[in-house]
Amino acid sequence: MWGMRLGREARVTCIACGTRVARSNAREYDKEGDRWERTDKEFEHLCKPCHSDIDHHPRGELERLLLDVEQPRHMTHAEFIHRYHRLVEERYGRSE
Ligand SMILES: [Zn+2]
Repeated sequence: MWGMRLGREARVTCIACGTRVARSNAREYDKEGDRWERTDKEFEHLCKPCHSDIDHHPRGELERLLLDVEQPRHMTHAEFIHRYHRLVEERYGRSE
């Protein structure tokens, strides 16, 4: 029973580069920027090299904005950019 799990560690996919790594070699990434609040969340993962590459400064309202843009689930990149741009203008005004 105990031996069945040895060597079968869960693997996760890095959201930045697509590499499959053992869960213990990955870092959790919470797109809301708060990985200490874990209730009802499903975390994404980054491999260690990609994790050390990202900017660790607070992201302000960016992630909230991206989450709000992501309704509905399936859209093209062009639709996403269009919705993102429209939402930014609604919230922050038109850029000159
Ligand atoms: Zn990676």
